[in-house]
Amino acid sequence: MSEKTLFSKIIDKEIPASILFEDDLCIAFKDIHPQAPVHFLVVPRKPIARLSEAGSVDHAILGHLMLKAAQVARAQGLDDFRVVINSGESAGQTVFHLHLHVLGGRSLHWPPG
Ligand code: 5GP
Repeated sequence: MSEKTLFSKIIDKEIPASILFEDDLCIAFKDIHPQAPVHFLVVPRKPIARLSEAGSVDHAILGHLMLKAAQVARAQGLDDFRVVINSGESAGQTVFHLHLHVLGGRSLHWPPG
């Protein structure tokens, strides 16, 4: 069996995190190194390694993650926010369990680095 991901350990409460929301499909918790006044991650319980490894079977999960990202952003007081998915090492991915970054609470520049 493959090693549990860091985020699966957070989902299973083996590692503490500041949890903002959870349901049967996903969890949202604050990023440990926030890059904006509000920065949280939305993570599926299913340990899909990266977006490019999601399949058509994951259609409903991916939609759910987007809707929950917006719902938690609103609950965190954000009208405007950015959602980022890093897929792959050269795109900046460091934890290989799919996650959406949600950032807000300051002006965000474009293009990102
Ligand atoms: P990635 O670089 O894979 O797109 O994003 C991984 C994110 O996970 C980073 O923003 C990083 O700060 C965050 N992170 C890494 N380890 C932990 C942890 O133990 N707890 C929490 N809450 N966030 C973490």
